[in-house]
Amino acid sequence: MTRLVTTVEEMQALRESARVEGKTVGFVPTMGALHEGHLSLVRRARADNDTVVVSVYVNPFQFGPQEDLQRYPRDLPADHKLAGSAGADFVFAPTDAEMYPAGFQTYVEQFTLPKRLCGRFRPGHFRGVLTVVLKLFHIVRPTRSYFGQKDYQQSVVIRRMAGDLHCGTEVVTLPIVREEDGLAMSSRNRYLGVRDRKDALCLSEALVIGEAAIRNGERKASAIVDAMRERIGRVKRARIDYVACVDPETLAAVKTVEGTVVLALALHLGKTRLIDNRLVAP
Ligand code: AMP
Repeated sequence: MTRLVTTVEEMQALRESARVEGKTVGFVPTMGALHEGHLSLVRRARADNDTVVVSVYVNPFQFGPQEDLQRYPRDLPADHKLAGSAGADFVFAPTDAEMYPAGFQTYVEQFTLPKRLCGRFRPGHFRGVLTVVLKLFHIVRPTRSYFGQKDYQQSVVIRRMAGDLHCGTEVVTLPIVREEDGLAMSSRNRYLGVRDRKDALCLSEALVIGEAAIRNGERKASAIVDAMRERIGRVKRARIDYVACVDPETLAAVKTVEGTVVLALALHLGKTRLIDNRLVAP
């Protein structure tokens, strides 16, 4: 039986029991609407640890005023079941009041990494992410924490924070789980209508094109990005935030591909914002 935990106090008490028993704790933070991408993290946490905690919390602090906080898909009973089926011992699903008690006024700021890629289009987003993840780290005190490469920039900023602030958890990043046709799984895919779903293939296909360009010897980042943009441009309604070829650690744009790079992109289809990326070693 997977236990549903809704208060910080109870979660901390359970964590303390695990500590006393000498158990390792694997932690998978999520915003719910769980899919195979999330579950791949839970299964890995199950394999690596004695106890597995999955958090389900839609963190208001990381959404911009014009973003999809209100309509973000929520289905805790389904998530509880799915997390359990993948091996979670505890589902931690706190309320907003529990996470942000009245008077709350402390947050985590990082200097450079959050300003790159998505950060340029989602001001304040990574401040919200880092703050909630640090809070969750303090509550769950995980031995290991699992994140998806799907949110590549997020995994980099969190890894940095975990080191900078001595969070005492090993940050593990796992590969992107995709639909059969290549679309990266995402809770936001639930928003996609039939036409959106078809058009959304331009993300993964653009990445395949970018990777092929590198494999064929192209080293000029601008040429690689242009080839990716050309594929996206075929979907007239796609509104691009960015298409980028960046350093995997600094997330700064590279001019010439010399080592491993991340091809990353973000775009809007109607009201839905989608992201995807691919690590490519030349
Ligand atoms: P979210 O619920 O969207 O905040 O995601 C929770 C965690 O699941 C994050 O670490 C994501 O990167 C990860 N995740 C989401 N989608 C995928 C996917 N398709 N493959 C692998 N991990 C994913």
